[in-house]
This record gives sequence, C-alpha cells and structure tokens, in this order.
Amino acid sequence: MSGRRVVARCVQLLPPVCRAGGVWSKPRGTVFAFAYSGEEEAFRTELRAWLAAHLPSEPVPVADEERHRFLRAWQRSLAAGRWVGIHWPREYGGRGATLKEQVIYTEEMARVRAPAILDPIAVNIVAPLLIHYGSAAQRERFLPPILPAEEVWCLGFSEPGAGSDLAALRCRAERDGEEWVVSGQKVWSSKAHVADWCLLLVRTDGGAAKHKGISCLAVDMRSPGITWRPLVQLSGRSEFNELFLDQVRVPVANTIGPINGGWPLVRAALAHERGTLWAFEFKIRLQNAALALVDLYRGSAARRDLAALRQDVAQAYIEAEVFAAHTLRILPRLHDAADAPPEAALQKLFGSEIQQRTCELAMALLGARGALDGGGWQEAYLYSRSVTISSGTSEILRTLLAERALGLPRG
Ligand SMILES: Cc1cc2nc3c(=O)[nH]c(=O)nc-3n(C[C@H](O)[C@H](O)[C@H](O)COP(=O)(O)OP(=O)(O)OC[C@H]3O[C@@H](n4cnc5c(N)ncnc54)[C@H](O)[C@@H]3O)c2cc1C
Repeated sequence: MSGRRVVARCVQLLPPVCRAGGVWSKPRGTVFAFAYSGEEEAFRTELRAWLAAHLPSEPVPVADEERHRFLRAWQRSLAAGRWVGIHWPREYGGRGATLKEQVIYTEEMARVRAPAILDPIAVNIVAPLLIHYGSAAQRERFLPPILPAEEVWCLGFSEPGAGSDLAALRCRAERDGEEWVVSGQKVWSSKAHVADWCLLLVRTDGGAAKHKGISCLAVDMRSPGITWRPLVQLSGRSEFNELFLDQVRVPVANTIGPINGGWPLVRAALAHERGTLWAFEFKIRLQNAALALVDLYRGSAARRDLAALRQDVAQAYIEAEVFAAHTLRILPRLHDAADAPPEAALQKLFGSEIQQRTCELAMALLGARGALDGGGWQEAYLYSRSVTISSGTSEILRTLLAERALGLPRG
C-alpha cells in the first residue's frame, strides 16, 4: 500500500474533530489519557496553584550565561516548593511521587510551557544512582545540593573510540593509597564547562574482561589536572566538551558502587537517561509540534504551492498521536522495569526519528521565511540532527530491538 493510502486509512480512524474543515483542526480534548483519582486531581490542583504563583513571566534568555542564571533560579524556586525531583524518596527531599503523579507533573509543566530545570542530568540520572548504589555518606554529601541546582553535574562516559561500545573505555584510574590517580580523555560531555561534579567512568582493572574492571567516580571538576575544550555545534552554541584528565587525584571514598563493579551502574544510568517520563514529556512536545505544523500550513500565504506537503502534515500529526498512544500503553512497564526493556529502545528510536521528520517538515513549510523565524524552528531543526545519536544511536537501537524484542539471531 502506498504511503498516501496508509495515511488516508489512518485518517478514517481519527476522531472526526481532527478532520473538520478539509484541513486539520485542533482536537478539543486529549485523544488518549489516563483516568485520575480524586487524590491525584488534588495533587494536580496543588501544583497548578503553585505554578500560578511562581511561574516566571519573562521568557528564557537566549544568551548562554543569562540562560544559565535564569534556569538555576527557576530550579531553586521549584526546589523551595518541593517541585523538583518529585520522584525521589521523601527522606531525600522528593515527594516519592507515583507514576501517575509524575505524569500529572509533566502534563502541567507542559500545559504552562514551564522552562526546563537547569540540571536534569543530576536530578534524573546521578541522584537515582546515588540513592540506589551510593553510601550513606555520599547521599548525605551529594544529594542536598542537587535539588536547588547549587551543584551541577556532567557525565564523563563517552570517549573517542568508546561511544556506542562504551565498555571499550580506556580512561584509567590507578590506586595510590586512599586516592585514585585518573588519566584519560572523555568527549561530548554536556555542560562540563559549568559543572561542579562529574560522574566519571574509569577502568580500574586493565586485566579484567571488558565489562568488568570499570568503576564509577564522583570527580570534583575543580581538581588539578582537569581541563576541557568546548565543541562548537552547528547552531553556534557550545553545550558539549572534550574533557582531559591528567593525573587527577580522586578520593577512593568517591567511588560510587563497588570497585570494578561499575557496569550495572552504567546500564542503570542509561536506562534513566532514556527514562520513562522522557517519553511522556516528549509525547506532549511532539503533539504540540504537530499542531504547530498545522498552523504553519494554514498560515502560509503560499498554501497552494505547499499542497504537496499536506499529506506530510497529516502524517506528522498521526505519528505524534501513535507515539502518544504507544507511550501510554507501555509507560507502566517502562516505569517498573529495573533495566531498560526493549520498549524503551522502541520509544527512543521512533520518537527521535519522528522529531527529525517534524523539524524537516517545518523547514519545508517555512521555506525562505524560515530565515526570519526568530530561530525557534531553525534551532530545533539543527538540534534534531543529534537526537538519533544521543542515548543510543538508531543503528544500535535497531540491533537491540532485533535481538531482544524480535529474538533474531546475532548478525
Ligand atoms: C546531544 C548529545 C549529548 C551527549 N551528551 C553526552 C554526555 O553528556 N556525556 C557523554 O559521555 N556522552 C554524551 N554524548 C555522546 C553519546 O553518548 C555518543 O555520541 C553515542 O553513544 C554514540 O557514540 P559515538 O558518537 O562515539 O559514535 P560511534 O559509536 O562511533 O558510532 C558512529 C556510527 O557508527 C554506528 N555504529 C557504531 N557501532 C555500531 C554497531 N555495532 N552496529 C551498527 N552501527 C554501529 C553508530 O550508529 C553511528 O552511526 C552525547 C551525544 C549527543 C549527540
């Protein structure tokens, strides 16, 4: 069946409100959703009231330093209201939020277009590792400054030659009494230039098998011997860095989890990175983007010239809804799994590729006018090139799905 006929078939399955007027109109309600209890709705009401009183009225600044200050202040304000890290256990400053409460939180933040927090890496990746694998002393030292973004973290995982095949990492740590002496290079380290701490993967036993002999360290970014070099992106921004470590001394007490037993932490970190709520938040962003495409199409003076793109706009809308429905179906399973199940790979693969198509379509709809667009879609388009690389490349995810979901033999 041709692509257009598939779209035509899918159109018949959509609620009539989406097809009114010959072109797509916004659905009045949510097409797919959870049912919420009275208690959960009370949680929503409390959050709405807080947001009504505290949401910043000014837009997020564009310039990097101002943006950083703004997002730090926003995260601090959220932390004061106990509205950051709500999934953390109460004893560490979270709310022990259930999955549905986290979904409500994501919905409400998206509804008011709240800015992102400054340091999702620390809140969503580092902290769960510390809570699960860290010592009591490490939890006491590192967790409190994470919620109000008093300390920012970066991840020192990837290396030149160890990205998809992370277990090939070579950055090594040699023990000298109660200290590790660390030397090596990391790359693509997001926010390393502003980070206070780095969750660093190092090889602590060069003689062990590849996945053994890896340890996970909390490294003070102000330690002598650490330097970084920003990598300039297509958009002109510099969010990533090469990170160089030359004889950096790190207390052995900063080893998170067992010495030489860091690989399970890596897997857990990657599972948190792909995550559960990522897919839910992304579903909302994708649905908004699909509706924005509809507006772009309708608002275009050259609509007749764009007629060929109408089917693509419909396709983008359908894909966003399919992603949303699939996310709701698998969310509980993603949430309950200790390790990332194949469904997580499917969501990441499908979501990242739709995101790229959506941005490509926006650029096609905008045409030359895109240059005057103020940067919104342009920046989204440029950034979207990276989303099929970060958190597992599309090729790696397809292999994972072939082997673990479909049970195909290893190639
Ligand atoms: C936006 C963004 C943010 C990032 N942030 C961080 C960060 O904060 N910290 C950090 O440590 N890293 C970070 N990374 C790095 C990221 O984890 C790696 O880019 C990713 O793991 C891929 O590794 P690589 O770039 O070395 O590519 P490679 O692994 O060298 O892959 C190159 C190409 O070969 C393909 N390929 C590789 N192996 C196979 C295989 N077995 N089968 C089929 N195809 C294969 C890949 O799919 C890809 O197309 C970030 C990356 C991006 C894009």
